Amino acid sequence: MRCEICKTKPATLFAKFPVSMFSVTCGTCARRSIYHVPIDEYFSSPEEQADWNEHLSGRDGYLQFKAAVQRYRYRAAAEAAR
Ligand SMILES: [Zn+2]
Repeated sequence: MRCEICKTKPATLFAKFPVSMFSVTCGTCARRSIYHVPIDEYFSSPEEQADWNEHLSGRDGYLQFKAAVQRYRYRAAAEAAR
């Protein structure tokens, strides 16, 4: 999947921006984010995924984070099926 902001580089991060906004981004576009979650780390194991979810649940933007994860999974699956 490509970065949702620049639309050119491969997406490597779930990046949190102000006002509850999460985007699936490349490293360059995440520079102005508040914090980010590495995509490969998030999907490295079910335990890692559960830890990140626990860490982020209840925080501002958690629902937007989950939505970004869903967009990534949907597009990654669509790209793999090509
Ligand atoms: Zn980018």
